[in-house]
Amino acid sequence: MSKLTVAKFGGTSVADHHAMLRCANIVKNDLATRVVVVSASAGVTNHLVRLSQADVAQDEQLLLIEKITAIQNNILQQLDHASEVQAHVEKILDHLASLAQQQAENYSAQLSDAILACGEQMSSVIFAHVLRSLGIATECFDVREVMRTNSLYGKAVVDIEALKSHCVELLQPKLTSKVIVTQGFIGKDGLGHTTTLGRGGSDYSAALLAEALDADNLAIWTDVVGIFTTDPRITDQARAIEEISFGEAAEMATFGAKILHPATLIPAMRHNIPVFVGSSKEPEKGGTRIQQQVNSAPTYRSIALRKEQTLVTVKSPAMLHASGFLAQVFAILAKHELSVDLITTSEISVALTFDNPTGSTQALLTSAVVQELEQLCEVTIEHGLSLVAVIGNNLHATSGLGSNIFDNINEVNIRMICHGASANNLCFLVPEKDANTVVEQLHNTLFA
Ligand code: ADP
Ligand code: ASP
Ligand code: MG
Repeated sequence: MSKLTVAKFGGTSVADHHAMLRCANIVKNDLATRVVVVSASAGVTNHLVRLSQADVAQDEQLLLIEKITAIQNNILQQLDHASEVQAHVEKILDHLASLAQQQAENYSAQLSDAILACGEQMSSVIFAHVLRSLGIATECFDVREVMRTNSLYGKAVVDIEALKSHCVELLQPKLTSKVIVTQGFIGKDGLGHTTTLGRGGSDYSAALLAEALDADNLAIWTDVVGIFTTDPRITDQARAIEEISFGEAAEMATFGAKILHPATLIPAMRHNIPVFVGSSKEPEKGGTRIQQQVNSAPTYRSIALRKEQTLVTVKSPAMLHASGFLAQVFAILAKHELSVDLITTSEISVALTFDNPTGSTQALLTSAVVQELEQLCEVTIEHGLSLVAVIGNNLHATSGLGSNIFDNINEVNIRMICHGASANNLCFLVPEKDANTVVEQLHNTLFA
């Protein structure tokens, strides 16, 4: 079989008709690209997240649906011969209105996911039409036929084995005759209910499909010309990285470089599929290649920033020389499906960080969790923190690392430091108000 590339186009890449046309031409110009995964058009998922919440009043509900309709209509109006696709999108919007109504009457996490999925359902139908308008034989495929998950709504876990066998049976045979357009971010559980994989999950969907289809390449088309030394929105000194190892890029994604969903590189690494990251606005500018073997391994590769971190400190004199305390704390967190990012411990206390982003669809640190922890120990919670991660190579064996990093940001209150567990990162927490300045200063120092 000839080479296969799975391409993913993010929200800004399918934001309007002009953007969609650019993406369609990228597909047209590369015969290997036969599977296309799309996100919802920019802005739509944020509106859907609000629409899916329990406290949306009727007038806000109508306003949100109007805004979503306007985004989609703006694209539909530019299409020729689009009555069928128009009718399809209208049907999804009607379904959305009914789901929102049900949600207002009787909230459930399952309905939330059904609401969130509407964005990708609409953008995929529209993008398939745009591809057809360029003369490309295209089918819009419902990814839920292959992306089977558990029922952890908002952060569903994909059944990799089932995905593989369904892809071989249902998707692979189609690829010889047409381009398949499908939805990122969504799946279906054993009960037949729609699920979602967590915010930004389309990158991960594309990587999983690339793995299941034995693809030769995964291309993530976004709004920047590759992975940068830090978020280019923070400093104009950030520069694109030509080539980066799986390990380094995975650390960046894990520590908040929004460019890739944290899990994206897991399937790519498992199956050794090279990943390309580039801009759908400027495909001619090239991008970043992420692969197993790279030529350089610089001490400092990049700086990632993750905002809206919560620091929880649990303290108990019972911990002194005792065993099993940490296991009890973690059992409570596991029961509530909460995942811990950083940990530091001292004699009688443990500090843990959690990601608590606005618009998240994942489990959050609720008062129920805190109450349970309080049965065990004293609990202190601090919000308004950001996690800065310096990513590179051999950091655990680099002398002068501490002064290189901290001497230049010595006016900032560093709340927590984690170093030593990985050769590839050093992370610390700073107050949110200082975070961008810290990253900018650090970037000036480490990447001058
Ligand atoms: P998409 O909708 O295509 O998935 P995202 O907004 O999720 O796009 O991700 C792209 C954004 O990631 C960029 O616009 C940029 O601001 C941000 N970003 C954060 N860290 C980095 C980095 N190290 N390199 C490039 N972009 C980054
Ligand atoms: N549309 C979803 C989101 O905005 C998934 C994605 O774009 O990757 O989170
Ligand atoms: Mg994204």
